[in-house]
Amino acid sequence: MPYLVDSHAHLTFSDTFDIEALLTNAKRAKVNKIINICTDTLSFERGEKVANLHPWIYNAAALSPHDVEKKEAENFFKQVELAAKAKKIVAVGETGLDYYYHKRSQELQKEYFIRHIELAKKYSLPLIIHCREAFVDLFEISAKYLPFPALLHCFTGSLDEAIKATNLGWFISISGILTFPKSQELRSVVEKIPLEKMMIETDSPFLAPQKYRGKSNQPAFVIEIAQKIAELKNCPVEKVIEVTAENAISFFSL
Ligand SMILES: [Zn+2]
Repeated sequence: MPYLVDSHAHLTFSDTFDIEALLTNAKRAKVNKIINICTDTLSFERGEKVANLHPWIYNAAALSPHDVEKKEAENFFKQVELAAKAKKIVAVGETGLDYYYHKRSQELQKEYFIRHIELAKKYSLPLIIHCREAFVDLFEISAKYLPFPALLHCFTGSLDEAIKATNLGWFISISGILTFPKSQELRSVVEKIPLEKMMIETDSPFLAPQKYRGKSNQPAFVIEIAQKIAELKNCPVEKVIEVTAENAISFFSL
């Protein structure tokens, strides 16, 4: 079986995680590259240590839309800029807009989203975007800065939004949500969007696939998403693994 790439995991989200065990499980499950998403100073410092010990773990960093109102926000943004400049990250992200969880901070989210786009462009890094119930603003803001490479992580939008994104040359990344009983709309998006525009991710420790629902998610479970995509597209799982891994390797220049 070919090797999997988990394009979005929060390996260093908490210092309570047994990272060595998570990585051993991942290796055993044939995951050979993981993009570790750092959303604050501590997760980034831990991420740097992990990447130094395990060169198959790559860091991305940005102030997420969940954190724009925190008092450390501006400091962390500056840290992301330094990391980009020093080539310590393979992407700027996750940044973006979340109007589902955070209606109040919309203006501030937009401001930081724009600053992250500018930062990514300045240092020629791709962007990892988090977008929930904010696609109109997302496309409107992005239009002023195009073209730039982006990945819509944990995609849960409509087919229309997926087509718009992929027409811009962007990728969508599919998470364990695909395996949830209620995710009919996402399954029809996956049926219609070509594999060549897709990556797979766990978003661990969140969003464990249906088979592990209620458990803490981990990169080893990314195979569940590949299997579901293969089933929907009626193709061998090896092909899903190969194409999504190739997409990630070229997008993040791994
Ligand atoms: Zn995430």
